[in-house]
Amino acid sequence: MTDRKTELAENLAKVEDRIAAACAAAGRKREEVTLIAVTKTYPASDVRFLSELGVRHVAENKDQDASPKAAECADLPLTWHFVGQLQTNKVRSVVCYADVVQSVDRPKLVTALSKEAVRAGRDVGCLLQVALDAGESGRGDRGGVGPGGIEELAGLVADSPGLRLDGLMTVAPLTGEYAGRERAAFERLMDLSTALRRAHPAANMVSAGMSADLEQAVAAGATHVRVGSAVLGVRPRLG
Ligand SMILES: *Cc1c(COP(=O)(O)O)cnc(C)c1O
Repeated sequence: MTDRKTELAENLAKVEDRIAAACAAAGRKREEVTLIAVTKTYPASDVRFLSELGVRHVAENKDQDASPKAAECADLPLTWHFVGQLQTNKVRSVVCYADVVQSVDRPKLVTALSKEAVRAGRDVGCLLQVALDAGESGRGDRGGVGPGGIEELAGLVADSPGLRLDGLMTVAPLTGEYAGRERAAFERLMDLSTALRRAHPAANMVSAGMSADLEQAVAAGATHVRVGSAVLGVRPRLG
């Protein structure tokens, strides 16, 4: 193995141990939690190594980086997640490679995603990004819909051709009542997921937890954790 592949294998093993321990502590089966490797700012060669090491889900947050990377890795058996704030003018490009968009947070974006998914002949999974620092009906600093906006946005996704409502996503807030209380934030997301599934039973994905707080997310019931730096290393630049 190359040095880099060895490094990634070691990091993956550590993250795998953490997820397994968190599942055991929570009385959950390991298979209930899917690891998504957040490969933003890292090259396509790393995505290829991760695929060879058994990773099946990767995530990116900027279309201009993700689009060429996904094209270079089109031969790999990967599910691509888009997790960044998404402008409508990038949607046509994103639907060409993203299997799941985790940052759906406003009606205009849903309309654009639906139109471009249909045009491209693609089926795009959608997670509503929930802002827990936004107040009930506000919007988050880093994107996201307030809890009070979930029901309406979910209905819009569910009724949109080319889109599939898969569930909810959040990022632990840095401000507001949940600042520094990741476990409480993720438990709130789980409650919102339970409410969502009453109307949309198939929308059972709960994407929460990153390198620093994946244990809290698993404890709260997350089905997907999005891990970047703990697998790939501390990012050389912001992203
Ligand atoms: C970068 C990013 C992650 C991964 O963060 P790490 O702290 O590197 O694990 C997860 N989710 C989103 C939305 C991100 O932008």
